[in-house]
Amino acid sequence: KKRDGKNGAQLFDNAMLDRARSRAEIEANIEAGLVDNWFEAFLQPIVNLNGRGIAGFEALMRLNHPQKGLMPPAEIISVAEETAKIVRVGNVIMEKAIANLAKISRISGMQDTYLAINFSPLQFEPALPARLAAFVGRHGIRPERIVVEITEAVLMHDNPEIRMIVTELRRFGCRIALDDFGTGYSSLSYLNRFPVDIIKIDQSFTRAINDGDDDVRQKSRMLIEGITTLSHKMNCTVIAEGVETEEECRTLHQMGLDYGQGYLFHRPQHAATLIEELMASQSA
Ligand code: C2E
Ligand code: CA
Ligand code: CA
Ligand code: CA
Repeated sequence: KKRDGKNGAQLFDNAMLDRARSRAEIEANIEAGLVDNWFEAFLQPIVNLNGRGIAGFEALMRLNHPQKGLMPPAEIISVAEETAKIVRVGNVIMEKAIANLAKISRISGMQDTYLAINFSPLQFEPALPARLAAFVGRHGIRPERIVVEITEAVLMHDNPEIRMIVTELRRFGCRIALDDFGTGYSSLSYLNRFPVDIIKIDQSFTRAINDGDDDVRQKSRMLIEGITTLSHKMNCTVIAEGVETEEECRTLHQMGLDYGQGYLFHRPQHAATLIEELMASQSA
């Protein structure tokens, strides 16, 4: 592709400027959200593929902007990580998610459902275990009900301090889930070096098992089946992410996966909406 040097540079500068402006705006929203309490912990149920009973919930951050409404987390998380505000945001989400779990448990009577919370690398600071302990204590939640979701990015640091904090959380009773499994470079190599209890198969795999291309479909199924067998041998539970169709659900169940999460079952929702939904289905 040929491009005019001067115009090319000009376009590049404008794009960079736009990006900088929108990042500054997001950063301002994060700060305002922390001060004015705009952050919410939405919950998405995780169901047993056999019978579809709710096994747990994943907390998903939402910034509820008074003018713009709900803002999805991807950009907010990346700006929060770059500016280190993720620690404060994460603490707010942790406490709100735990409070929501306590409320849902109280109203629905579900005392064994777990709560999975996403953590960025920066959140693994020495104060984390005590803080989590304080939150679960305050809301009367057993630590065994908490699942700490980490990605390869956390493990990649291979930082002894992070390792110690994860071990401490596990000793406290929390379980560790490896998120987005299959999207990184060397996911398998972490399994023997790190205590993991749950593997979450990324939604790109869930899509691929029904891919139109025969070869892709077959290979994806073999990969997931192999990972599932391996995980079970290592006493790990396997969850499929992004389940959207009955066909996907059926195939995943046949392949031996334990749990599923996706729009087919439930969308991420405000805790109050979720409670209404659960109550309606209980009385139905
Ligand atoms: P994730 O941890 O992989 O979360 C699953 C994402 O898949 C969520 O996106 C969820 O809304 C979406 N999802 C669930 N079911 C389906 C489905 O059937 N189809 C499709 N297409 N998508 C589905 P969301 O809520 O936009 O979150 C995006 C990412 O932001 C999360 O990916 C996670 O990496 C990060 N994130 C969200 N909340 C937090 C948080 O509190 N702390 C941190 N550190 N990261 C968070
Ligand atoms: Ca997650
Ligand atoms: Ca994921
Ligand atoms: Ca993700």
